[in-house]
Amino acid sequence: MQAKIVTLPGDGIGPDIVAEAVRVMQQVAQQYGHTFTFEEAMMGGCAIDATGNPLPDETIAACESADAVLLGAVGGPQWSDPTAAVRPEQGLLKLRHHFDLFANLRPVKAYPALAQYAPLRAELLADVDILFVRELTSGIYFGPRQEQGNGTEAHDTMYYNVEQVERVARVAFEAAQKRGGKLTSIDKANVLASMRLWRRVVTDVATDYPDVTLEHILVDAAAMYLMKYPSDFDVVVAGNMFGDILSDETSILAGSLGMLPSASLNAGTFGVYEPIHGSAPDIAGKGIANPIATILSAALLLRHSLHLETEAQTIENAVNATLEQGARTVDIAADPAAALSTTAFTDQVLAQLK
Ligand code: NAD
Repeated sequence: MQAKIVTLPGDGIGPDIVAEAVRVMQQVAQQYGHTFTFEEAMMGGCAIDATGNPLPDETIAACESADAVLLGAVGGPQWSDPTAAVRPEQGLLKLRHHFDLFANLRPVKAYPALAQYAPLRAELLADVDILFVRELTSGIYFGPRQEQGNGTEAHDTMYYNVEQVERVARVAFEAAQKRGGKLTSIDKANVLASMRLWRRVVTDVATDYPDVTLEHILVDAAAMYLMKYPSDFDVVVAGNMFGDILSDETSILAGSLGMLPSASLNAGTFGVYEPIHGSAPDIAGKGIANPIATILSAALLLRHSLHLETEAQTIENAVNATLEQGARTVDIAADPAAALSTTAFTDQVLAQLK
């Protein structure tokens, strides 16, 4: 197959980790007889410095011509003034909005080889394999908001309509069908009207997926159960804010931020794929960043935008095998002196791919 992939390396460690994920995709293309073309474009702080705009029009145009986008991370101390009119993360929000990326998928796996880095007991981590599906373009982060009373009052509005809940629920049910057949929907239906609508719509959609077992859990209880019984969860669907908080909470089960990929999808096959971590300015330029989250994001890209399931699994298996063999970057190394550089770690993944 032929595919065009736009890369947005961004800031900090972004360029290092994106370059490694591109190497992995190139090798997969070679092994399976595909032709992937890569075009790099600017986004984030580097784009602000070069053009004054965190998401220049040329970058949007490049993404529009692509099958999928692989993003590194944006931001850094030089652009972090909260009162600045132009900020790197505005580029991210604009990108999500422009492409209507309403479904944010975050798989969280606990790797036995890394159990010592997670704050939970190893026996609780056995078999943890959760897929978060977070609604990304509505909810309280996008509802009407206002500051009033000369800085003494403010409000934000949690808004959902039937169509918004239904489309993200369908993504979650379809994912559950392909996985363990269980979907947990998170809400706060006992208090919030928007969340009563959420629960009603998810329950209605469930009738189209009789092979999926649906359960509803209130967000406060879910925060506790995810830590107490993490291996009981399969697919979890949540609104924008609850999904944001719970998926971050759950990310600690993987042992390092450097392990976790994500996909942000629209109604078609287009998606933006990125690690969940930020630009890690504290280690930028040192060549020691963990490339796994970005390499696994490339696997998600192959799976969801290019429908190359075998190739995606090949990458995931190669990462697993690399960890099982004992290769480590410094963030997941018991002995930092024995840790591999970003590039040397990826070399091991490439060797496993073969
Ligand atoms: P961060 O995720 O960048 O870093 C948190 C800690 O995790 C740091 O100690 C860092 O070194 C470490 N870390 C992160 N990724 C790693 C990797 N791949 N390998 C090894 N260690 C890794 O979060 P932060 O420090 O809060 O934010 C730094 C900048 O990134 C800020 O400007 C923030 O706004 C931005 N940010 C961007 C995104 C994004 O682009 N999607 C997401 C979160 C934060």
